[in-house]
Amino acid sequence: MTVALRSIERVRYENLFIGGAWVAPEDGGMIESIEPATGQPWATVAYGGRRDIDKAVAAARTALEGPWGRMPGHERAAIMRRFADLYRDRAGDLAVLETRDSGRALREARADISGHTHGYHWWASLADKGAGRTIPFDDSVHIFTSRVPVGVVAAITPWNVPLMAAAWKLGPALAAGCTVVLKPAEQTPVTSLELGRIIEQAGFPPGVVNVVPGFGKDGAGEYLVAHPGVDKIAFTGEGSTAKAILRTGAETMKRFTFELGGKSPHIIFADADIEQALNAATNSAWTLCGQSCALGSRVLVQRPVYNRVLEAFRERAKQVRVGQPLDEATHMGPQAHEEQLAKTLSYIDIGKGEGAELVAGGERLSGGAYGNGYFVQPTVFGGVTNAMRIAREEIFGPVAALIPFDEEEEAVSIANDTTYGLTAGLWTQDIGRAHRVSAKIKAGMVWVNTYRFIRWSTPYGGFKASGWGRENGIEALDAYLDTRTTVMSTTGRFP
Ligand code: NAD
Repeated sequence: MTVALRSIERVRYENLFIGGAWVAPEDGGMIESIEPATGQPWATVAYGGRRDIDKAVAAARTALEGPWGRMPGHERAAIMRRFADLYRDRAGDLAVLETRDSGRALREARADISGHTHGYHWWASLADKGAGRTIPFDDSVHIFTSRVPVGVVAAITPWNVPLMAAAWKLGPALAAGCTVVLKPAEQTPVTSLELGRIIEQAGFPPGVVNVVPGFGKDGAGEYLVAHPGVDKIAFTGEGSTAKAILRTGAETMKRFTFELGGKSPHIIFADADIEQALNAATNSAWTLCGQSCALGSRVLVQRPVYNRVLEAFRERAKQVRVGQPLDEATHMGPQAHEEQLAKTLSYIDIGKGEGAELVAGGERLSGGAYGNGYFVQPTVFGGVTNAMRIAREEIFGPVAALIPFDEEEEAVSIANDTTYGLTAGLWTQDIGRAHRVSAKIKAGMVWVNTYRFIRWSTPYGGFKASGWGRENGIEALDAYLDTRTTVMSTTGRFP
């Protein structure tokens, strides 16, 4: 395997990472991964089938019941720190690979991935802190709890942020003492295999982390979910997939965490610092080519500043540099795959058909510097109502919907009128309003006079259809630990 730093290089990953070794797939095969900036295959990558998953789960189980399970927390922490340092050294390469595989702009990938090192270090610092508690009753018993790893975790990740989604699962899983089978999305498998190389170098016992790319339905993903040797599913992806996973995983009573979609309200009150609000709102409408679960896709604007905000969106959309994602100057690369491009373009048509005003963008960019890549213009719709499909459904493309409102209560009502509840932002200089509104928003993360502030220490996850459980923050550990309560008689008599 080699790291391709130039756009012309093709790469091959012929093996899966199972039990600490690189092994050829037994009943999987090879996937051609498409580079979204060119629409051409750029990587040939091994993927796993059933027998490969069986091997990976068995290796994870052996590590759990053997060296990793028996290792004291401080020793696990030392390996995790070594891994975090190696990850930091490789962050530049990983960013290039993720850019080529997913199409996100290099400058954005770099900023994201370099932060994972801090996250892994933070999780390492928690690996020896898994204390239980004692429960007072009377002097006939001594009652105490122990926190034990939930077991073998299947980490199933999406194509938009493969390394981030992996970090959010591996960090707490390893800190808790679990072992992992990581299955990246079939569209973007490359960086997860590179992650396997770093795991190998860090000196984890064999089988603690296994990396098996594969397909979802009828593939490695579904098989992992059904597998009796897997104790927990940590999933990021679409709500419809989560429901399928729940149905399959219910047979073996697995634990689940789900990080799903969003349709986040970004509320700009007339009393806000409008320049700051605009910086955040325009940035967060197009970040990650729009393929972000935290996208501020519904921009709710109070009427006195509505025209100003709409004009600023029109101007700023033109200033976004859409281009080759490896180019340092590029703000926004292509959509990550052809299907997503088609989805984004179809929602643009839906918006036009629903009578929203197309303020900016709305077209695919192709030919010339764009070639056959999956590029689309940053797009803005004005005069959107919350009943329109472009305000209700997750597009996952760079499409902002501007929704005017008059009163504070109306803003809250529109913000909450959604099946989702992942993130929300609000801009106001009235501190009373900041408290009133943020307390009423039904979302797992609310940003006031900022947006997209997400760190390893800040619990992240959804209300309503946006998910179950939390990633990041100490809360995330709970999903990777079970509690055993021990009741010990001090008299030896029963009853
Ligand atoms: P997806 O649900 O199509 O696929 C996600 C993963 O699930 C892939 O690895 C896929 O192979 C696998 N999969 C598919 N069907 C499966 C099945 N039946 N059983 C087991 N595994 C299966 O999602 P996607 O299109 O890759 O990702 C986009 C979605 O992810 C968006 O909805 C986005 O909002 C969400 N997302 C959420 C967060 C968050 O933190 N809340 C972060 C990133 C993305």
